[in-house]
Amino acid sequence: MKPVFSLIVPCYNEEDCIRETHRRLSAVMRDLAQPYEVLYINDGSRDATAGLLNDLAREDKAVRVLHFARNAGHQVAVSAGIDHAQGQALVIIDADLQDPPEVIPRMVERWRAGAKVVYGQRRARRGESRFKLLTARWYYRLLNSLAGGAFPRDTGDFRLVDHQVAEVIRAMPERARYLRGMFAWAGFEQEALLYDRDARFAGQTHYSLRKMLRLAAHGVLSFSEKPLLWPLWAGLVWLAVALVLALKAVVFFFLGRGNPGLLLPFLLCLGVGMVLSSLGILGAYLARVYDEVKGRPLYIVADARGFDPQPPPLHQARRRA
Ligand code: UDP
Ligand code: MG
Repeated sequence: MKPVFSLIVPCYNEEDCIRETHRRLSAVMRDLAQPYEVLYINDGSRDATAGLLNDLAREDKAVRVLHFARNAGHQVAVSAGIDHAQGQALVIIDADLQDPPEVIPRMVERWRAGAKVVYGQRRARRGESRFKLLTARWYYRLLNSLAGGAFPRDTGDFRLVDHQVAEVIRAMPERARYLRGMFAWAGFEQEALLYDRDARFAGQTHYSLRKMLRLAAHGVLSFSEKPLLWPLWAGLVWLAVALVLALKAVVFFFLGRGNPGLLLPFLLCLGVGMVLSSLGILGAYLARVYDEVKGRPLYIVADARGFDPQPPPLHQARRRA
């Protein structure tokens, strides 16, 4: 029987959380009294996560596990989950219990009332550093001013998604995955659901500053072309300045007053700086075009448990012609 609900749980080195997470998820899902599956994506964990997940798959018929051949990142793991989910409604939830499973029934209620995407909006965030909260706020402001105000703030990946919207995401071939942006882009009836985000149940965050910056860059570069145009506007301003200076030099020449001293080197430095930064912005986009054009599979499934029929054992290319 096809499940009504698919839970998608990306796991990277979560050995201390898995058991408790599964217990709480199962309790909530049993109360909903509908067939469900729990899809755990082991994103190349190096601790005991793989074995624990296989144990769960043995004990619980609702469990499916995908083991990646290597760490591909949270957004890719969730994408794989979306690809393999069979439910009518998909729920994306972290493995560390920061997103309380008890919120799921409220999401389901909104879904039954007609919403196609119910995204969790954080009211409180426990156990996060000041730095993370502040940078997140600035970032969403920047992203929204660049991308036309389409992205809800204080929103992560914790959400319920109707299978119709999931189908749209499956059809999006891009490798630079910024899922919350992709969901916003998909449209449909979307609703916010306020919740309090908890601290991690155990362990530490796997989102290093580097990964966070990468995700932030994906968001801006994937959903806004404006940065590509900045150098153009700046360049035009500088051309105008150059024109004025040229005219001034001509006037000075005819009045026999010579030319103004330090201005030139200053302008030279500034000009070079501008050219270089323009090239840099072009490069940022070009790098992404290159990455997309390579068209490599987004992830590689090394092993799978609990699926019927089994997904292709080794390669799972995202692109379906
Ligand atoms: N995660 C993943 N791959 C990674 C990093 C994280 O699958 O490379 C998973 C992780 O196991 C957790 C979720 O993504 O279920 C969110 O990660 P984390 O809690 O470390 O990030 P934070 O909540 O601090 O932003
Ligand atoms: Mg977390």
